[in-house]
This record gives sequence, structure tokens and C-alpha cells, in this order.
Amino acid sequence: MAEQIVAYQLGYNLYLNITNRCTNNCLFCIRNTADGVGYDLWLAHEPSLDEVINAVKDPTRYREVVFCGYGEPLMRVDLVKEAASEIKKRGGIIRINTNGQANLIHGRNVIPELKGTVDTINISLNAQSAEQYIRICRPSRGAAAYRAVLDFARLAVEEEIPRVILSVVQWPGVNVEQCRQIATGLGAEFRLRQFSGRLKSRTDTISAR
Ligand code: SF4
Repeated sequence: MAEQIVAYQLGYNLYLNITNRCTNNCLFCIRNTADGVGYDLWLAHEPSLDEVINAVKDPTRYREVVFCGYGEPLMRVDLVKEAASEIKKRGGIIRINTNGQANLIHGRNVIPELKGTVDTINISLNAQSAEQYIRICRPSRGAAAYRAVLDFARLAVEEEIPRVILSVVQWPGVNVEQCRQIATGLGAEFRLRQFSGRLKSRTDTISAR
């Protein structure tokens, strides 16, 4: 059986794949696309701290080490904290790509636990309203999930995570300008991402590139 992929390089960055689990089921998730990121990222088991650190080796070889994965990395906030701390000690620059629901998932504010090790948090906003978020991201917690995303972004800015980005995938029905205003209103950067994958469940290719 092939070894599972815990870390993979794309461009100058190293991406860490630590869980399959997520509280969303986004229409555009790589788990729903035929091409994914070009690697089979399904994990047979969630990697331990040692497995993650061994997969990184020398973090200074990369522009950023990104907790990203096939699922939501902050489902495993304790692992992220420990791994980020070790990678930071070794000179790495750390980003977390998250759905922003960690505080709702864990029932506490986890941002202070990430402060000091995490350089950038990229939060997927993906919608200008809770209704649109439910349509696109299909969160298990409904409208509370969207409110949690906004709160998480606000707290990340307030608690001075060095760089906070709210991102949106260009998708039918998403009002990019309203999303941009939400991001800047919260004091975060805004990033528009293009989707050009092929959905498994549909024959058409959606490309906004
Ligand atoms: S939040 Fe991310 S990992 Fe979760 S379903 Fe959406 S795109 Fe996939």
C-alpha cells in the first residue's frame, strides 16, 4: 500500500495534510473535484506530531509551511499548536488555511493559543450572507457557522495575528464586492480565488479564471 501523503510541495510552499475531517461540505472542495491538487490526499489515519514534523524536515526550504489538508486543520487544534511551535523553532513561516469555525467546534477561543507561532491565518469567507454560505459551504452547524467565521476573523485581527486574510472562491451567486467590504470592515486582507476544477458530480467544467 502506498504511503499516505502528509506533506506536499506546491510552488515554493509546503502544505500539510493532517485530517480528512471538516464541518463543511463545500461545493468546490477538492474532495468534490475530479483533479484535486494532483495528489491523493485521503488519509488512512491522522498523522501524529512526529509524522508531521518528519514530513516537514527543514522548513526554511519553503516560503511558507501551510496547514491546509484535505479537511479542516483546526479540527486538530492541539496538533497544529504543537507542530507549529516546533516548525517555528526551526525557522519556518507558518500559515493556516481554515474554514474559521474552530471556536464553534471547540467551544473556546483558540486564537490566543495560536498567537506567537502562526504568521498568517487565511479564513475562507466564501459568502456575503449566512444564506449564501449555507448554499455553498453546506455547514453542519447551519447559520451559526457563518457567524462563527465572522467572529473568528474579528478576533484574529483583534488579537494581532500578523496577517489575517479572508478569501472567497469565485462562484455563482457570490457577491465579491460585498465579501471584500466584509473583509476590509473587519480589518482583514481580502483575497479572491479562482476555481477551475472539474466537479466529480457534474459533466461541466466551471472556470472563472
Ligand atoms: S471548508 Fe475547506 S476542507 Fe472543508 S469542505 Fe470546504 S473546502 Fe473542503
